Amino acid sequence: MRKKIIAGNWKMNKTVVEAQSLVRDLLPLVGDESSVDVVVCPPFTALSDVYREIKGSKIALGAQDFFWKPSGAYTGQISAGMLLDVGATYVIIGHSERRGRFGVPEPDADDAFYKHFGDSDSTVNRKAKAALANGLVPIICLGETLEERKVGATDAVVHSQAGAALRGLDPAAVGNTVVFAYEPVWAIGTGEVCDAEEANRVCGVLRETVMEVCGAEAAQSVRIQYGGSMKPDNALELLKKENIDGGLIGGASLKAADFAKIVAAAVAAS
Ligand code: PEP
Repeated sequence: MRKKIIAGNWKMNKTVVEAQSLVRDLLPLVGDESSVDVVVCPPFTALSDVYREIKGSKIALGAQDFFWKPSGAYTGQISAGMLLDVGATYVIIGHSERRGRFGVPEPDADDAFYKHFGDSDSTVNRKAKAALANGLVPIICLGETLEERKVGATDAVVHSQAGAALRGLDPAAVGNTVVFAYEPVWAIGTGEVCDAEEANRVCGVLRETVMEVCGAEAAQSVRIQYGGSMKPDNALELLKKENIDGGLIGGASLKAADFAKIVAAAVAAS
């Protein structure tokens, strides 16, 4: 039986004081939970302070991204070693809000143009390798856009993104450590949740891809989260599905009570 894992992606929200306050609200609700893995992923600036709050509890710390090089002239980047140094044990990789290239902007390009930060299948693979080499658990995000779903390309996109992410990874590490998050892009932050049956089916496609690349043992043990508008009222239905081993939670992770309800749903579904 795979242990469920609920991770909160706080994105670009919360100052240090606000992050401390959120995690202090969360601690009495989920701080002792051991039947489910609970992870919070604050922005870089709040990692140290959040770690000081959760140290000794069952809540683990994750970052939202990192760069695979160990150190050097990489302005603005954060290494795996730096994350370990502040207490992080997980790192989100390849979130759809980080995949995609800027290209050359028109002078009047609007904000939406600047939303993506250049992650590709190849950088996701490099980050996954570097995370594992440094003892961080990578939460590898993938999923189709609305356009891809409309033309029936969902399974092909998931198969291809997962295959690329897994290239050259040690199958044992995939089974024991790697976490995937299936996140249909059209469901992220939109309130539009993927039907539980369909989410389970696509997570099955992802698991089959792990089987093709890494073998049956890894496929049986790798954990696959669903992400995309998971909320207290839909979490249980999703988390009860055979191929869904947890949730990556955006909006609902910013309220301690909501996040705790999702953790409780994971406990109930275990
Ligand atoms: C996410 O950003 O990974 C996410 C799932 O966001 P939300 O829960 O807000 O859709």
